[in-house]
Amino acid sequence: MEVVGICGSDVHYLVSGKIGPFVVKGPMVIGHEASGTVLEVGKDVKNLKPGDRVAIEPGITCRLCPDCKNGNYHLCRDMIFCATPPVDGNLTRYYVHDADFCHKLPDNMDLEEGALMEPLSVGVHACKRAGVRVGSVVLVLGAGPIGLVSMLTAKAMGASKVIITDLVDHRLKKARELGADFTLRIHKSMTEDDIIKIIKTKLGQDPTVTLECTGAEQCVRVAVQVTRSGGVVILVGLGKFEMTVPLAGALVREVNIRGVFRYNNDYPIAIELVKTGKVNVKPLVTHHYTIEDTLKAFNTAKTGEGNPIKVLIHANPDWKPS
Ligand code: NAD
Ligand code: ZN
Repeated sequence: MEVVGICGSDVHYLVSGKIGPFVVKGPMVIGHEASGTVLEVGKDVKNLKPGDRVAIEPGITCRLCPDCKNGNYHLCRDMIFCATPPVDGNLTRYYVHDADFCHKLPDNMDLEEGALMEPLSVGVHACKRAGVRVGSVVLVLGAGPIGLVSMLTAKAMGASKVIITDLVDHRLKKARELGADFTLRIHKSMTEDDIIKIIKTKLGQDPTVTLECTGAEQCVRVAVQVTRSGGVVILVGLGKFEMTVPLAGALVREVNIRGVFRYNNDYPIAIELVKTGKVNVKPLVTHHYTIEDTLKAFNTAKTGEGNPIKVLIHANPDWKPS
């Protein structure tokens, strides 16, 4: 193993011991945003050889169920996913994974970028589901890692304008560095109507696509109301199981509401975007730790001290800070 990024869900398992129905009942290795170097391959493996550097797609599917056979392997009912209890993750020195879920990195990409292909693939999947294309006018709610990679992908897919919101200034600052056309800092005193009005005014029109990347009820409510008639709302953020959302308004305006779950054939696209320079994920990385300092790494991710966006853990003992 080389580089493993910390995801909000890893922190959640550590702090709460569960996410929805997934409960940690015994010791479990965390980590699922990872890259590695191939040490050995099974005798039938043809796509990889020792020495290859790979981005590891963390979900192994059954390849046989109706969802797998229909091309929706990410919805496989028998999915085995790193660090989703009881399955161990890959924040380890050595790890075994199915070869067809290891994506070889091109020479011009490094292992940190390799680990970031996991969140970037979520952004790619969200933008594909949204049908983002040249001329799309996009609202991204939430400037965490997922909101930021969604924004980067939307731009790479041709969106002409992107506005991104957050509660936290430093995340919006990062969004501007990464190319956001407009940012909106949400204050507690703002009403939903205020937020909708400011978004429309800044964009000069209604967004044609909204990517909801917070899971906050307020944001889901804004998303279905602010998106242009006939437009698309993509729900990426995972919040409360039940929410109150004004759906009739979306119905009469034929707003399309679509869920997103992880990724489906998106790693190759994510790699292509970085390889060709269309997306730069490096500025997302704010912190580096060795595997021995994993607790410190999790503390940074948990407390937000030092304004982390993406915290990376280096599992290879040869790693040196640059
Ligand atoms: P994060 O917590 O780092 O980022 C969320 C951001 O939203 C934060 O910066 C926060 O300040 C902001 N925010 C919260 N409430 C807000 C509000 N009312 N208005 C504006 N901004 C607000 O999380 P992340 O890693 O970026 O992930 C984002 C969401 O996506 C999480 O809910 C996560 O569970 C979910 N997720 C879903 C998938 C999927 O497959 N659907 C995959 C990965 C992550
Ligand atoms: Zn399956």
